[in-house]
Amino acid sequence: MPIPLLTATATGGPLDPAQLAALAVLAFLGWRLLAIWLFPYAPCRHCRGTGKHRAGKYWRPCSRCKGTGRRIRLGRRVWDWTRTTDTTRR
Ligand SMILES: [Zn+2]
Repeated sequence: MPIPLLTATATGGPLDPAQLAALAVLAFLGWRLLAIWLFPYAPCRHCRGTGKHRAGKYWRPCSRCKGTGRRIRLGRRVWDWTRTTDTTRR
């Protein structure tokens, strides 16, 4: 009795486009998760990561990121949010 997966590779035929798309989506999601986990911060959009912005002719600490020049990625915020809601549920 042949195993479907093995026979598919044995024939040497190309992968199904749907399978390829699914693999691509999985790889993309995996990469995004890894990036969120490794680099939770992204440059602040308001000050472009400098931590300050110009108000008239003066430089002021960026109000959006409070002078840190970075912001927490949206994905990381969702990640933290799911984790905190999980702990409060227990
Ligand atoms: Zn900023």
